[in-house]
This record gives sequence, C-alpha cells and structure tokens, in this order.
Amino acid sequence: MSMTTESGTFVAPAVRQTGILIGDEWRPAVSGKTFSTINPATEEVICQVAEGDKADVDLAAHAARSAFESGPWSRMDARDRGRLMHKLADLMEANLDELAALETLDNGKPIGDAKAADLPLAIDCIRYYAGWADKITGDTIPVRGDYFCYTRREPVGVCGQIIPWNFPILMTAWKWGPALATGNTIVMKPAEQTPLTCLRLGELALEAGFPPGVINIVPGYGPTAGAAIVKHGLVDKVAFTGSVETGQQIMADAALTLKRITLELGGKSPNIVFADADLDAAIAGAEFGLFFNQGQCCCAGSRLFVEDSIHEEFVERIVDRARQRVLGNPFDAETTQGPQVDKDQFDKILGYIESGNSEGAKCETGGHRHGNRGFFIEPTIFTGVTDEMKISREEIFGPVLSVLKFSSVEEVVKRANNTTFGLAAAVWTSDVKKAHQVSNSLRAGTVWVNCYDVFDAAAPFGGFKMSGIGRECGEAGLMNYTELKTVTMNIG
Ligand code: NAP
Ligand code: MG
Repeated sequence: MSMTTESGTFVAPAVRQTGILIGDEWRPAVSGKTFSTINPATEEVICQVAEGDKADVDLAAHAARSAFESGPWSRMDARDRGRLMHKLADLMEANLDELAALETLDNGKPIGDAKAADLPLAIDCIRYYAGWADKITGDTIPVRGDYFCYTRREPVGVCGQIIPWNFPILMTAWKWGPALATGNTIVMKPAEQTPLTCLRLGELALEAGFPPGVINIVPGYGPTAGAAIVKHGLVDKVAFTGSVETGQQIMADAALTLKRITLELGGKSPNIVFADADLDAAIAGAEFGLFFNQGQCCCAGSRLFVEDSIHEEFVERIVDRARQRVLGNPFDAETTQGPQVDKDQFDKILGYIESGNSEGAKCETGGHRHGNRGFFIEPTIFTGVTDEMKISREEIFGPVLSVLKFSSVEEVVKRANNTTFGLAAAVWTSDVKKAHQVSNSLRAGTVWVNCYDVFDAAAPFGGFKMSGIGRECGEAGLMNYTELKTVTMNIG
C-alpha cells in the first residue's frame, strides 16, 4: 500500500500480525469472522483482522489461567519477570519507527507525535514497571500475642484489559506494565478501530520470551469480545479505559463475578488562565491541551476559563494559533493535526459543533470538515460559551475548544468543579499562593500548574467522580494489580 505525500510517496509499514494470540499461537477466530481496520486519513481498508468473540475469549482465559496457575510464569523469580519486561522495552525501542508508522496508519495521529510521544512514553512505562518487579514488598505487623504477622502482595490473577483507540500502544503499555510486574496474566482486547500495534506488541512479547499464555490478545468488538472478558468466570480483574457509558456497563457486568475493576473514563477538564499568567506559555498550553491528538484525549482541556481582563487578547491569539495548525497526511513531517479516528467520531464531533452554533455560542474559527477525504475536522474555537451549553458539559473528544470568561477565584473554582467529571485540570498563574489554593480546591485526579499534559510513568493518573475508579501509573497503579494477603503464624 502506498500513499502520496507532499514530500513523495510513502510506503506504509507491512502489517505483520492480524490474528488472535492465545498461548503462543496466532489463530483465526473460532467463528472464522474478520473485520476491517481502516486508515482514517484515506478511509481505505488497511487489512482484515480476526474478529474474536466469546469462544475466543474462553480459550484466551483458559490459557491465561493455566499460565498463572501452573506455567513457568507462576514460578519465575520476580527479578526475571523484570528482565523479560526490559527485553520487551528494548525490542519496542529497536522497532520504534515501524511501531510509530503502524500507529499512524491505524489511528491517524501525526507521525511526529507517534515518534516523540506515544512510543517513548510506552517504552518508558514498561521500563519503569520492570524496575518494580522485584521491589513489591509486604509489611510485618506488630499484633498482640505470640504471633508473627506479615503481609504479602500477590498477583490478582487473570486480568482482562480493554483499551480505547486514542493511544493504542501507550494504553497497552499502561495496562501491561503493572500487570506483568506483579506477576499477573493478561487477556487483552484492543479497540476495534486500532488493533494493529497491540498485535505487533504481542509478537514482540513472544520474541522477548514471555512464556505462553502470559499475554493473550483477542481483537474484536466491545459488546461481544469485550463483554465476554468482563463476564468470564476465570478472569479476576478488569482494567478498562474508554467512555463513561461503557465503564458503567462494565461495572454492572463485573458485579456478577465480583471482579476487581479499575476504570479510566472521560473528562471535561477545566483549563484556568488567570490574568497574571505568562500569556505566551498559557496560550501555547491551551492549544496543546486541547488540540493534541486531534482533541481525542480523556484529559483534554476542553473548558478554557480565561479571566475577563485578558479574554479579548487571549481569544485573538489562540484563534490565530488554531488557524496555523497544519492538517493533512499524518505521514508528512509538517502535519500537526491528523484525522479523527473514524466516521462515528467525525459525525459526533460535527454534531457538537452544530449544537454550539444552535445554542448561541460564537464560532471564532473552524467549524467544518477539512478537505473531502479522510475524517479531518478544522480546529474549532467557540467563545461566548455558558456553563449550561452542551458543548461545555459533554465530552466532545475532538478539536473543539470552548472558551468561558470568569472574574474571580471563587467563581472559577465553583464553575470548574460543576461537572460530573474529575479527571484533570490546569491552572496558569504567576502567583504561587493562588496556584496552591486553586489546585487544592479542584476536584480532579491530576492538576497541572503552568503546564498541560505532562505525563510520567511514575506519576499516578486517574479520575475523581465519574471519571473513573483507581489509578494508573506510579506505585498506585501497581497496587490495583495485587491482592493483599495477611499471614499469621503461631510462634508461642
Ligand atoms: P468505548 O465504547 O468506551 O470503547 C472503549 C473500549 O471498550 C473498546 O475496546 C470497546 O470495543 C470496548 N467496549 C465497548 N463496549 C463494551 C462492552 N459492553 N463491554 C466491554 N467492552 C466494551 O468508546 P468508543 O465508543 O470507542 O468512543 C466513544 C466515546 O468514548 C468517545 O467519544 C469519548 O468521549 C470516549 N472515549 C474516552 C477515552 C478515554 O481515553 N477515556 C478513549 C476513547 C473514547 P469496540 O472496539 O468495539 O468499541
Ligand atoms: Mg466503540
């Protein structure tokens, strides 16, 4: 497959793996069915991928269970688990260009972003957790009487992992890292829009030497393959990233077997700019905070609160920046904005733009499809947005920024918190006191001060309120993959 770009003809990376990974075998679906994965920049089919469902999940769950109970994995020294993870990270690094190109092909994100953000963060995450593998300890507890009491952190067991399409390889790393470091086994379902990099990572994991059944991958659809993972009796835990609605469904389905769940859901994150902020930095941060990854970030700074005295200048300058974004072939090095991931998302975002217009917000720039091929949407900025409008309440997950005006700290904190979400927030100010006061008052799992979207494998990430349950990354992310056992021994 080739695509013409301004700088010549680009030859897409070869797709090496489209099957279901069970144990150490790549198989077609039990049903024989396949589904197409599409290049969102061209709307062309890239390839067919095996469509796993309940029967395939059942095979995967059995493979994961036996690897957990009786395979070499269950007897492996923790430090050797860490070594395998380091090998996987090294293989990812050695194949960075190919993995980045595959991600861009399947997801549409600019190749520069895939290479500079997604891949390095994913590799760093596997390495960070590899370092934890032999450092997970329990406590000794001073109980009454002649007893020796201690705790052990043991793996939860078989972990179902269901991920979305916005950061396919990074979400795979966020899920695999803590699960593997703590000795669990995995049944993973990548998003139907973007299965290719996860499957390629499955190949690299086998090449690294992970024993059969430690990592199983079942591409397929949410209501079939995904739901089968959540309901399966041999699966002990589900870790999910995606929409609130699907998170609610997963929580309900998981109740049947009382699975442990961690959920990383949506957001409507406030990005608050005070008049005393470094405006150049705040404008760049507001642009990046919303438009990065085509606006398809759970933590996108989609409610931009700007203090009234700087509102006019700020709007003028951010509109100017939005107009300079370069939309086009994501394989072109100059491209800063690719297509939305699929037709459903594209239609949904255009629907939100229509609602902004009809509810009386002012569209300062953008508002339409870009070009006539691929799911591109112009960077769009609305001003005159009120807290009640749909575009300031609901997650749009696209390149649509709502600007809201405020005039005091108390007012903006109250309005910023007036949402069912609580994933992230940001504050821009040069007043240290104000920065602390506001960040302490915001009901969100992450607060960035004078920066946006700063991620690190060591820093916990997750939501308050309806943005989720549990944390990923850091030590907190590890703990969600362990059960705590108390051992009490009579020594009297
Ligand atoms: P989604 O339905 O939540 O999909 C996320 C993952 O869950 C996919 O792998 C999906 O499978 C799977 N899934 C769907 N229904 C399931 C079920 N009943 N049981 C188990 N797994 C299930 O998200 P979406 O439909 O792709 O996107 C819709 C909206 O979700 C977006 O507009 C955005 O607002 C939000 N979203 C949030 C994030 C985030 O990072 N927090 C990421 C993506 C989307 P399929 O492959 O079949 O969909
Ligand atoms: Mg879906």
